[in-house]
Amino acid sequence: MSAAIRPSFDDFPTTFRGQCFRPGDSGYPEARAIFNMRMNGWTPGLIARAADSDDVVTAVRYAAKAGIPLAVKSGGHSIDALAMPDGALVVDMTNFKEIEVDAATGRARLGAGVLLGEMDAALIEHGLVVPAGTVSTTGVAGLTLGGGVGYNMRRFGATVDNLLACDVVTADGRKVRASAEENPDLFWALRGGGGNFGVVTHFEYQAHPFPGTVSAGFIPFTLDQAPKILAGLRSYIATAPRELSVISALTPCPPFPFVSQDMHLTNALLLVVVYTGEPENADSVIGDLAALGKPMAVGVEPVPWTVANGLLDIIAPAGRRVESTGGYLAEMTDEVIEIAVNQAAAAPPPTNPMIPSATQNFWVLSGALKDPDESATAFSRENAGWFYEVNVNWDDESDDETYLSWAHEVFAELEPYFLPNVYMNLTHDLGAEWRKGIWGGPEKYSKLVAAKTKWDPTNMFRHNKNIEPGN
Ligand SMILES: Cc1cc2nc3c(=O)[nH]c(=O)nc-3n(C[C@H](O)[C@H](O)[C@H](O)COP(=O)(O)OP(=O)(O)OC[C@H]3O[C@@H](n4cnc5c(N)ncnc54)[C@H](O)[C@@H]3O)c2cc1C
Repeated sequence: MSAAIRPSFDDFPTTFRGQCFRPGDSGYPEARAIFNMRMNGWTPGLIARAADSDDVVTAVRYAAKAGIPLAVKSGGHSIDALAMPDGALVVDMTNFKEIEVDAATGRARLGAGVLLGEMDAALIEHGLVVPAGTVSTTGVAGLTLGGGVGYNMRRFGATVDNLLACDVVTADGRKVRASAEENPDLFWALRGGGGNFGVVTHFEYQAHPFPGTVSAGFIPFTLDQAPKILAGLRSYIATAPRELSVISALTPCPPFPFVSQDMHLTNALLLVVVYTGEPENADSVIGDLAALGKPMAVGVEPVPWTVANGLLDIIAPAGRRVESTGGYLAEMTDEVIEIAVNQAAAAPPPTNPMIPSATQNFWVLSGALKDPDESATAFSRENAGWFYEVNVNWDDESDDETYLSWAHEVFAELEPYFLPNVYMNLTHDLGAEWRKGIWGGPEKYSKLVAAKTKWDPTNMFRHNKNIEPGN
């Protein structure tokens, strides 16, 4: 946006009790910082950090009166960097840190600014968990609104399957509640439709009893074994316990202390393993996975759950240039495996030895994730056996071409195998036609358009994987 037409929002209400950050203010660079550095040139006009839900109402009513869109920032992990669009008015939810747990019922109420690591730490004090993602700095808000997949999805389903209610400030500035009983159409749309329908200030979940210690870590194999191991995993996982999570990553082997130094940074297949079942069964389950091939080492051990759910943090630091694109696969077929493994061998090298720059991940989608009917939530899972993602991250703009061209080539080669539906949170926005299919069949998209038309007829909430209102 050019400086000449950049709005200054000078008339933003003085009744707003939280903090306001405009370009040039001290604190603005920190308030503006988000995960994906590729959009670092974007300069929101005003970041309004709400003190409470009345502040959110103030920001929404201002945007409604001015006829302008409103962006929402919670954890700041949006792959598309849409928490901080250029020139925009942003309502910043990071002060919403409440975590209330009813230990007797397992009901947990969280503010929209809570991060996954904060949620996990608070809930495990009560021996509880809500299934969520894999990197502790991700926001519960954006993750939940898109669906939420992670280590516990085979055991307890997606995050949205465990959502009981939301408190929402709607586009006309009302505070409403969405649950199975109250505004069920809004509740359905919020469970996977992203930030299209209002600002969610609080989320209520059904948490589950969970052990404080789980078995977690990595099993790295040389890349030449990858086709055999992935095919073996495909068979094994069909009958594996729901307490087992395996993400298979084609990546340079990180410099793990338990792996001999000469294997560090060599092309590898890394199984990221979390087993949350009975401890006495852990050795047998981990042994089954290791026996799929000849591992470089087995780095899986009992660790506190909060450590397990931060295992990937080190390879996903904020502030790098990132692109992530992917698709659902009905099956991880031999052809798909061959393409991915060949591309792994041709991947550009890491720019930082601690952080793999070019990875391809296969997430197993089975167990409890597949229990709900497709129509139960906006989040789509129909026919999906696996989620595949290609992720590239680097530091310097001068390296954009190297990483992006490889990622785009891999995606183009695998795209014919992808289903039309996909998990929206782990892939960049690929355009309006693509968006029509990502939530499943046309009837689901029509239902989302109907909810959008009812709850946000002017498309105030458009800084997202946008669903345009109908007439
Ligand atoms: C390193 C990394 C690891 C990830 N790992 C996983 C994973 O394991 N599992 C998984 O499921 N996903 C994962 N994701 C994807 C993640 O779920 C999405 O990026 C999600 O949008 C992040 O939410 P946020 O609140 O952090 O982000 P934000 O950028 O703050 O929000 C993202 C978008 O959500 C909407 N939004 C946010 N807060 C609100 C609100 N309070 N009310 C209404 N709308 C809102 C807005 O449209 C906003 O643009 C990962 C992302 C990254 C970068």
